[in-house]
Order: sequence, then C-alpha cells, then structure tokens
Amino acid sequence: MDKSIDSIYQEALDELDGVSAPEALEAVQVRYLGRKGRLTAFLRNIASLPPEQRADTGKKANIAKKKLEEAIRQCGESLKSGKGNAGEQLDISLPGRPATPGSLHPITRITREICDIFARMGFSIAEGPEVELDYYNFEALNVPKYHPARDMQDTFYLSDNIVLRTQTSPMQIRVMEKQAPPVAVIAPGKVYRCDSDLTHTPMFHQVEGLMVDGDVSFADLKGILTTFIHAMFDAQTSLRFRPSFFPFTEPSAEVDILCVMCRGKGCRVCSHSGWLEILGSGMVHPNVFKSVGYDTTKYSGFAFGMGVERIAMLKYGIDDIRKFFNNDLRFLRQF
Ligand SMILES: [Zn+2]
Repeated sequence: MDKSIDSIYQEALDELDGVSAPEALEAVQVRYLGRKGRLTAFLRNIASLPPEQRADTGKKANIAKKKLEEAIRQCGESLKSGKGNAGEQLDISLPGRPATPGSLHPITRITREICDIFARMGFSIAEGPEVELDYYNFEALNVPKYHPARDMQDTFYLSDNIVLRTQTSPMQIRVMEKQAPPVAVIAPGKVYRCDSDLTHTPMFHQVEGLMVDGDVSFADLKGILTTFIHAMFDAQTSLRFRPSFFPFTEPSAEVDILCVMCRGKGCRVCSHSGWLEILGSGMVHPNVFKSVGYDTTKYSGFAFGMGVERIAMLKYGIDDIRKFFNNDLRFLRQF
C-alpha cells in the first residue's frame, strides 16, 4: 500500500512534465485529484485498511496530495507566463517589437506655438489653478454677483464661491496682485463651460494675454495682435477689429481674420461672410486695475484671450472640435 501511493505520486509528476497546454494540465488534475481520480480513490480506500495501518498511510497520502496540488499550481503558473515545459524553442531570428514613439497632441502643439510667438515679443508665461474662486473668475474682473454678463458663460459651480474657471482671465488678477507694472504676460490653460456640440466642448483651452505699463495704448494692442496673427497664419492674413463688449475691458474689440479657407470669397466655415472671429480683446477696465490696487491715472493696459481649439481648427482645417478629445489614433497620427 505504501509503495502504491509513492508510485501514483511519481506517475502524476511524470505526466506533469509532459504538459504543455492548460487543457492537458486540467486532464492530469482530473485524473489524479478529481472526484474519481486515482489519488482520491486511494484516500477513500484508507477506511477499509486494518486499523493499525490507517494513521500512517493516511498521513503519507495526504502529504502526497498536498505536494501534487502544489506541483499542478506551479505548472499552471509557468504555462500562464508563457514558459511551457516541453518543446519550447527561442527563435532569435524573429524581428524585435518596433518602438512606437508618441507625438505631441495638436492642442499642445498650437499652445506651444502661440507661447513661442509671444515669448519672442517679450511676454512671460504664467499658469494658475483650474478650480478657481468666484472672486478671481468674476468679481475682480468687474463681473459682480447677479451681473447679467455672467449669463454669457455657462459656469460649472462647485459651491457658492468656487467654480471651474470659465476663462483664463483670472490669471490677469493673480499676476497683477503679485507684480507691479510693467506687466507683459500670457497665460495658457484649460477652461470649463457647461456646453457641448460641434463647436463647443465642456473643457477647452485658452491663452490669455495682458500688457500693462505707463502708456500702453490701443495702437500697441493692434500692433501686438497683428504681429501674432501674421506669425501664426501668414503675413498676408488680413485682420479687422470689430467693436464688442467684455465686462473687464473698455473699449473692447473682437478680432476677425480673413477666412483661411476661402480667402474672403465666402464659404460654409465663415458663414459666407469672408471673416472668422479669432479672439477677444480690449483696454483693461479701470475697475479691474482698482481691484488689484494699480493706479489708474498712471497705468494703462490691454488684455486679450483666444481659444486654442479654434486656432487649431482653422490652421489644420478641422471641422469638428470633438475630434481633439476622442483620442482616435488615426486622427492624432496626422500631426
Ligand atoms: Zn470662408
């Protein structure tokens, strides 16, 4: 009887050595440890042995069972990790797996391009929080509570006085609070609005610009923005300034460029007007200067803001803003 448990155990190990697939492993397990398996039958048989043999044989059989279970478990693991026991060969002539380098997302690309152009004109770059106090996002920018201009932006409120910033303009306040004039800064970053369709996503990117000094005029604003647009698109791109309203600038202007698709002839993209709105701008409102303690009799400045997606869409001829965020590799690999 003792010899028999040893030989059953040894035969099981021999069979395990030849196993190279999960199905074969399972068959071995069933053959020895299954309900009608050889080792199971042996254990069941112990009850019919003479009483003085039972304890000793039972002990040996249980040890053999534990060892076999462990051997099966290990065999299963080496199958899983691809190290089959039998017949494995390493083909060193196979080509290696190609490395697939990533590339910059088009939005990152355009943001960097915008920053580079302004950096060349002496602007520095500032970044700030996306979860923002109502004070910085609205109040300090001359948009008090209950001001109708708040309706212009569908705001995500986290609580009564905390919002996801709807614009990068809060950075104007944060920069001016820390720094006395002269200021020349741009602030790129994510902004959030409760809006989603062909031309809007709940999260998008803006670049804010601010310049403040002793005698900054609207002519400086026009000069800087014209230089920027000529560098971003091409030197032949015409632009026009159209009167507009923003609570934090006075006077305010929106800037249009000649449609890059039809060159002003009129097409679907420009709604047949020949012009495309590209950014908002204006002279900083005195109330904004007051909220950061700048002397409005000594300093003047201009501010502007643009949507990065908008510029990327025009520059690359993309018609659906959502393509930027679907992460479709066929789209992303084109850049
Ligand atoms: Zn057009």
